[in-house]
Amino acid sequence: MKPLKARTCGVKLEEEDPTHLRQARLEQSESRGHVNTTASTTPAGPRPVRAPRGTEISCKGWQQEAALRMLMNNLDPEVAEAPDELIVYGGAGKAARDWASFDAICATLRRLKDDETLLVQSGKPVGVFETHEMAPRVLIANANLVPDWANWDEFRRLDALGLTMYGQMTAGSWIYIGTQGILQGTYQTFAAAGQKHYGADLSGRLVLTAGLGGMGGAQPLAVTMAGGVALCVEVDPVRIRRRLETAYVDVSAETVDEALRLADEAVKAKKPLSIALLGNAADVYPELLRRGVVPDLVTDQTSAHDTLSGYVPNGMSLDEAVALRSADPAEYVRRAVASIVVHVEAMVALQKAGANVFDYGNNIRGVAKEAGYADAFAFEGFVPLYLRPLFCRGNGPFRWAALSGDPADIAATDAALLEAFPDNEMVTRWLKMAAEKVHFQGLPCRICWLEYGERAKAGLIFNDLVRSGKVKAPIVIGRDHLDSGSVASPYRETESMRDGSDAIADWPILNALLNTAAGASWVSFHHGGGVGIGKSLHAGMVVVADGTDMMEERLRRVLTTDPGTGVMRHADAGYPVAIEKAREAGIDLPMVEGAS
Ligand code: NAD
Repeated sequence: MKPLKARTCGVKLEEEDPTHLRQARLEQSESRGHVNTTASTTPAGPRPVRAPRGTEISCKGWQQEAALRMLMNNLDPEVAEAPDELIVYGGAGKAARDWASFDAICATLRRLKDDETLLVQSGKPVGVFETHEMAPRVLIANANLVPDWANWDEFRRLDALGLTMYGQMTAGSWIYIGTQGILQGTYQTFAAAGQKHYGADLSGRLVLTAGLGGMGGAQPLAVTMAGGVALCVEVDPVRIRRRLETAYVDVSAETVDEALRLADEAVKAKKPLSIALLGNAADVYPELLRRGVVPDLVTDQTSAHDTLSGYVPNGMSLDEAVALRSADPAEYVRRAVASIVVHVEAMVALQKAGANVFDYGNNIRGVAKEAGYADAFAFEGFVPLYLRPLFCRGNGPFRWAALSGDPADIAATDAALLEAFPDNEMVTRWLKMAAEKVHFQGLPCRICWLEYGERAKAGLIFNDLVRSGKVKAPIVIGRDHLDSGSVASPYRETESMRDGSDAIADWPILNALLNTAAGASWVSFHHGGGVGIGKSLHAGMVVVADGTDMMEERLRRVLTTDPGTGVMRHADAGYPVAIEKAREAGIDLPMVEGAS
């Protein structure tokens, strides 16, 4: 793997701020395994953060150390989209409320005992209580609001007062692993779209999309993995450069003419190619329509869920938009919403012209609809179209990171899973492709969708690898909140549920409570991830394989309860695949016939 260059995040270390230089040295000495005793006295402020590597720890146990390293890894300049502002991905999705809170979380994790639990309220550490050794070391609640107050205006008011924080999904729950984290889900989506619409892969097909941010940046590589040609519109040249540097995108173009020429050649040659086009989607999509260009698949992954900190309005340069955002936020939102309407109108028109169009989980339809565009929901979301059959089996984005920092540890986990699941084509095909094509960002890590049963098996295998010394340090296991049983999001994961239960949010609450009871290492409950404030509630969990007998027990339990709630939620909604899976796996569901 090619190592990425660490950026200084706009802080000139040597000249301007000796404090930052000291902190950088501190983090470097930590990465060599030395104990940091002075971090809590460092004044708060932006500085490069990088998780320590190796086997020496600065906390009282590996469970606390894992949380510390994963929080820091979320903010690694290789990983986070805007680390100076503590923003990890997804518009303004943050890992900690402010730099003082970040420092206080680190200091508290370092002193946290094996029978204590740290509570984090929207990115700020607020309490430590005695619990017990098998309890989670950290419990996190981010951005939650009472339903009547759950709107962007109220959230932004509270955020400006420093009382809350937008945690997106894995940003505020310290298990973001860079663009790879969404890569397989994105690949599965495009591969499933190819099968559904063309009965084949995407070779010789043109996919139009937009947004090359933390998550959207996975799209070009996922499309080419599925054999297709991706045309990705992105308004920010810095994001394009980042995707080029990490090989998520193949080439860039500055004009529509150039992009279309490249796309046309690749489509005709049936050659996978991804093209980043510098431009605003609200300009480019209508322009393609005017030219009569109708791609095979059309979607979008700009940060449309956040019309202030995410989506960039058309009709102005990026610099002008950034200036308007702080000078006149209300006008910025008005113009962003107007652009989103134009953008969605073009998507609907492309659908009418013959393209297969789907929403990619950013609430772009919801924003356009609220602004008065009646036809905004003319196209469906990606979960009901392509992913729900997987969710019914408790299949979702299982992921892990090697705390040693050594890529060889991930190679060892890949090899162990290939040996454990030789007949699972989805797993073996994916792992081989990922090992070849994915550049690590921050700590070496892997995503691999596994279902109920498989996840517990993998967790126990990883614990054995740690115990036997076949990997050099513990393995952190977690997942996206975009999973089978952990989210209520009517415009995304729970859109068009069979029984109409799209907005029922008891399910992710039960998921978080159960994973806490089962002994996860840290558990989180968030509001607003993916689709924005007021639109979703969702839970995260992480469980750390440290090679001990205690963690073996907890891994077996948590990696069963977690996907088990996904099968339960879908069986309860009446999906035959989920009911069958529950029966086959012996999951005890008292009111589902044959599954108790
Ligand atoms: P991000 O904020 O890191 O990136 C968004 C990108 O869109 C930025 O690079 C930005 O410059 C670009 N952009 C904004 N407005 C634009 C416009 N008008 N034209 C062209 N480019 C524009 O966000 P992200 O982490 O990539 O997430 C993107 C969206 O996808 C969010 O709404 C997020 O909630 C959602 N999401 C979807 C999934 C999924 O699986 N489908 C998963 C996570 C997040």
